[in-house]
This record gives sequence, C-alpha cells and structure tokens, in this order.
Amino acid sequence: MYHQFIIEMIDLPDFKLRQMVKRSYGWVALLEPTPRCFLCPICGRKSIAHKRQKKRTLRHRVIPHFGFIHVEVPVYHQQCTTCLHVWSVQWQGVPQHGKVTDLFKKAVVTLCHESALQSVANTLRVPYTTVERWYYQWAEEEVENLHTMRTDPTVVCFGGGMSFTVVTGE
Ligand SMILES: [Zn+2]
Repeated sequence: MYHQFIIEMIDLPDFKLRQMVKRSYGWVALLEPTPRCFLCPICGRKSIAHKRQKKRTLRHRVIPHFGFIHVEVPVYHQQCTTCLHVWSVQWQGVPQHGKVTDLFKKAVVTLCHESALQSVANTLRVPYTTVERWYYQWAEEEVENLHTMRTDPTVVCFGGGMSFTVVTGE
C-alpha cells in the first residue's frame, strides 16, 4: 500500500522504484529505468549501452508540512550498433538540464496561482527569478495554446444537415 502510494506519487512512466533513502536535504526516490530497447534516433536500429556512470538528483514533489521528494535518475548514453551515433536517453518528465522535474515546475506554477511569487520562492527555497521564469514560461505556453485554439475553426453541425464554420475567439 505504502509502496503503491510512493509509485503513484512519483508518476514517472520510464522508471520503477528501487528504494527510498533519506539524505541531509530530504527524501530521495532511487529510480531504475524499466528495461526496454533504445532505438537509434537517426537510423532507428538497435543500440547498446555506451556510458552509465552518472546520476542526477532532481526535486520532484512538494509535500506541505513535510518537504521535498527528490528523484535520482541515471544518465544513459547509448550507441547505435549500425551508424555508431551516440546520444543520451531522454526520460519522460525529466528535462535534460536543470535540477527539477516537469512535475515540480508544474507544482510551483500551481502555487503561484494562489500566492505571491515571492512567497512561493521563499517557501520552496527557489530563487525568485527562477520562479518568475517558470511562471512566465507556463503563461506563454498557455497563450500559445489559446492562440492555436482560436485559429482552428470549429465546425458545428445542426440536426437538419445544416453546418457552418465558427471561428472561436474574436
Ligand atoms: Zn543509428
């Protein structure tokens, strides 16, 4: 039950939970990729493990009155057996750079809807400028989504076989 709860909270489809450990900065879920084959992004053929030494720790969840849950994920470099291309595997929900996961950013943005950016920054111990950047990135994406919706005409059909095009928005 407890294990199931942790797995659902982690919610990163590429991984399974190996262990939860407590470190000086909080709890860390040690994650292990579920076995699968990584196909070459260039030629689509099979690949082999190239480099596997590095691991990254990212902030993942904010739990009120408890603290943060971090995740530790490995950095996988693969090499194509056909064209010899080497690349690093991109995990779903884990950006290739930075110290937080997509879910963490989302949680920060959600908190910004309810509190001032400065107070969110203080509570989460994230620099104000970072919170601001994540918030405006999210806002920009929202505007883009809205824009896409507005330029896509919607066809509305009526029972009598009559139909016309409605451009939503303006
Ligand atoms: Zn290849």
